[in-house]
Amino acid sequence: MDLVAADRAHLWHPFTQQRGWTGEPPLIVERAEGTDLVDQDGRRYIDGVSSLWCNVHGHRHPRIDAAVRAQLDRVAHSTLLGLTHRPAIGLAQRLVEIAPPGLTRVFYSDSGSTATEIALKMAFQFWKQRGEERARFVALRSAYHGDTLGAVSVGGIGLFHSLYRPLLFDALMAEPGDVRHMEELLAAHRGEVAAVIMEPLVQGAAGMLVNPDGYLRAVRELCDRHDVLLILDEVATGFGRTGRMFACEHERVSPDLLCLAKGMTGGYLPLAATLTTELIYEGFLGEFEEFRTFFHGHTYTGNPLACAAALACLDVFGEERTLERLQPKIEVLGGLLEPVASLPVVREVRRRGFMVGIELEEHPTELRIGHRITLEARRRGAVIRPLGDVVVLMPPLAISEQDLRRLVEITAESIVAATSSPALRPAA
Ligand SMILES: *Cc1c(COP(=O)(O)O)cnc(C)c1O
Repeated sequence: MDLVAADRAHLWHPFTQQRGWTGEPPLIVERAEGTDLVDQDGRRYIDGVSSLWCNVHGHRHPRIDAAVRAQLDRVAHSTLLGLTHRPAIGLAQRLVEIAPPGLTRVFYSDSGSTATEIALKMAFQFWKQRGEERARFVALRSAYHGDTLGAVSVGGIGLFHSLYRPLLFDALMAEPGDVRHMEELLAAHRGEVAAVIMEPLVQGAAGMLVNPDGYLRAVRELCDRHDVLLILDEVATGFGRTGRMFACEHERVSPDLLCLAKGMTGGYLPLAATLTTELIYEGFLGEFEEFRTFFHGHTYTGNPLACAAALACLDVFGEERTLERLQPKIEVLGGLLEPVASLPVVREVRRRGFMVGIELEEHPTELRIGHRITLEARRRGAVIRPLGDVVVLMPPLAISEQDLRRLVEITAESIVAATSSPALRPAA
């Protein structure tokens, strides 16, 4: 059986209607080089969404490759349940050094979803162990925190989340950007709310919705005033995407719990972390028989290969002055997007740093306009993946200015091609 046939026979792809998938030729990625993906026939594509928002310094970065290989010569996996190892220790130290002030403890897991699940469970258990039953969370409308059931419970994207409602706990949904509404919810549910959970500055999966300036800081102040914990999900925004290492730095906010994943290993291996404060950590201390233990952990928690990749990824941030060199590229990207915003089919371009959402005018769902744009872009040499009718651009931070130009050009051409193709006109 050839590869395509075997894929169609056995693979079930995430977030994919398999009926459509099997009707189209798949792009089979064979290898990668820098910020390009290369297919089986040697065709190259700019990795326009950082292999789903996680690649940072490019693919096959010599520094990160070497670190993973060196770790492979020591041990590929050993558990953190009852044992410990050098890469997990070293990375915890480094994360605390770069994290917003006050975050001193690192709990590992292996995806963004588990990082947020862990934050929710920690917040709940923290209050419980102080003698308070606080089982409610405040989340933002259109929030996305992952696909496991706890993360879905605090999610607010109807298409992904509403079907599962009977399986979920109820979250209080606040209107993003509306400080008054947040305040009303916290006041009305005094003593019931364990934490507010939010994506700081940009709601990614919602279609790159950008919070108004000052909102994050206002929510932090409200949480303090109402004695509620703040969980920041920086799974998408973390590791430089907004122009700073963490998005919350823009408003000088420190959360009580911080969720990290995607970019942490530079897009190499699955690894996540939930960081928290000494205060919350100490709430879990006690005699063994008091059962204040955090009873949570995954088999591959803190995997050594992944931790080695993450350490090297942080080294590269320093050695290549990644964030410094990103600033002029953020400016260039802003300029490149101006003509895109004035295309007649484009409703709005939203951006914060290297996170871009190009929202198109409404099209009937069955036209799958976002998908058509993906196919047009592929023909022109770029891989992008839209969210519904929002075309997302989130290139690796290491992308060259030349490739950045090319990526935006291809995107603009693809939007025009896909929205003007005869197939889109209503049948006579
Ligand atoms: C992608 C994402 C998640 C989920 O991460 P996974 O590793 O896919 O489980 C959670 N929160 C945000 C903000 C994300 O963008």
